[in-house]
Parts: sequence; structure tokens; C-alpha cells
Amino acid sequence: MDELVAGIRRVTLPLPTRPGHVHAYLLPGEEGWTLVDTGVGLPDAKESWTLELAQAGGRVATVFVTHFHPDHVGASADLHELTGAPVVQGALDYAQCELVWGNPAWSERLVDWFRLQGAPGGVTDELVGQSSVYRPFIRYQRDPVLVEAGEHVDGWKLIAAPGHADGQLCLLRDGILVAADHLLGRITPTVGLWPASRADPLGDYLAALDRTIELDPEIALPGHGDPIEDPAGRARELKQHHRERLDRAADALGAEPQSGYELSFALFGSDLPAAGRRFAIAETLSHLERLVREGAARRVEDDGAVTYTAP
Ligand SMILES: [Zn+2]
Repeated sequence: MDELVAGIRRVTLPLPTRPGHVHAYLLPGEEGWTLVDTGVGLPDAKESWTLELAQAGGRVATVFVTHFHPDHVGASADLHELTGAPVVQGALDYAQCELVWGNPAWSERLVDWFRLQGAPGGVTDELVGQSSVYRPFIRYQRDPVLVEAGEHVDGWKLIAAPGHADGQLCLLRDGILVAADHLLGRITPTVGLWPASRADPLGDYLAALDRTIELDPEIALPGHGDPIEDPAGRARELKQHHRERLDRAADALGAEPQSGYELSFALFGSDLPAAGRRFAIAETLSHLERLVREGAARRVEDDGAVTYTAP
């Protein structure tokens, strides 16, 4: 556990896949700690949290989940059992959490969707198999307290940060942004199009980055990696990164229809394991959908296949 600015504690938890760790944060408050994010629900999650919380001392007043990805929501039920504290989660985010993790038919829906995006049969099974790896380690808290952006949790204002996840919420107070995976220092947060996600996640993300630039926090505490000393500067870099990716995606388009699967090779190369390909397809599609809205690409959907061409 590390002590950061303003009495905030950071707990770093193991993550079996890249980037190998995830941070949770303990925010001090009058009623006790607000614990932000929980790590994956690994078999020893409760034990490790018992040790961490003993080290922090005091009681946990609230468990706050920024978004429903496994490394953030995975142990929320464990933490509720351990602390008795209410779990607080964004309303849209919780709806997506249930749709993905509380739904045995989700894998089939993903298979159909990857097929629609042009992935060949054998490949879709592999892609979806990869996504099931975390399923046993997600013990999310049912029926949490639902909140919306603009509300406050123990004096922290909730800021909508869609893109990486549609319903992701950050917390802001006194120039400190608890940023979850909205801003990361060295890694670029993935922004993908998924079944049942909002239609233009990259558009959402670019707007959320503009909002971060306007808010201009002094420091951002991300879900992975070191604190970010110049959050607005980092937001500008991420905008630039996506502008370049958008240009590359536009260059890859031609008169011949290509699927998101095919175009993911032009953008991300051919040498990717299944998990990497899954994100590459989703990420390629978020760029293509942005280009469609900018008038720089055309989408055609027929015969159970979605393809894209130059306009
Ligand atoms: Zn994360």
C-alpha cells in the first residue's frame, strides 16, 4: 500500500493478464474510506483485502466501482461481504455489467457478433473462448446503489468518462481525478465497439477527453500505472493518437468492401494472439464507426455481414 496526495492510499493488486497489475484507491472521508475499485475476484481476493484493509485501519464506508471490467468490478461482492459497506456503481455501467457477466447467453451473442464483423468460424470460437477466461473470477455485487454522473460520493463529484466503457465514472475533488481507465500514463486505454455498446464509443471518448482538458485537474490517479502529473496534456496526446489511428483507418479503406475483421489486420498487424485480435477488432470498429460519422467511411450491412468502404 502506498500513501499518495491528500491522504489517499493506493493498493496494487495482481492481474493475471497484461498490464499485470491494477490499482484500487482508498479515499479518506469523515465516515470512513471510499474504496475505489476491487481487482479481479481471484480465489484469495478476500484474504488479500483483509490484509490491505487492516494495514489501512478504520472502516470502509463505501465501495465504489468505476466500471464493470473484470479488474475493477471482480471482487465487489467479496468486499461487500468483508466490509458491510454499500457498493455504489453507475446505473448504465451496472446494466452492462449484468448484461455481460450475469448472462449465460452472452458468449453466443459475442460469437454472432464477431461473425457479423467478418471473423471466420474457427476464429470466433477462439476469440470468444478468450473472453470467458475471467468469467469465474467475477463476483460482482448484485443490486448496488445506482448513481449518475454529476452526483457526489462522499464529497467527490462523479464525472462521466465514456469510451473505454460506456458507463465509466471518474471521481473529482480538489483537483484530484481518480481516473480509472479513462486516462492511463503509458498505455492507451482500449476504446472498442462491442455488441450492446453505445454506437460511437470513440466519439464519446474524444468528447470525454475534451471535458478532461476543460476540467484541467492537477493530477490523475489511473487504474494502471503511475499517477499522471499533467492530465490535460495526456488527454491531448490521447486525442492525437486516435487522430492518427483514424487517418490510418481511412487510408486502409477502398472501393472494395472490407469487414472490421479484415481491416483489423491493416491497423494492428497479423501477429496477434486471440485476446489481442479480439480487442483489435473492437478497436478497429470504434474507429470505423467514428469515420462513418465524419463522412470519411461508408458502412454497408447486408446478408449478415457488416463491411466498410471509402465514401
Ligand atoms: Zn482496467
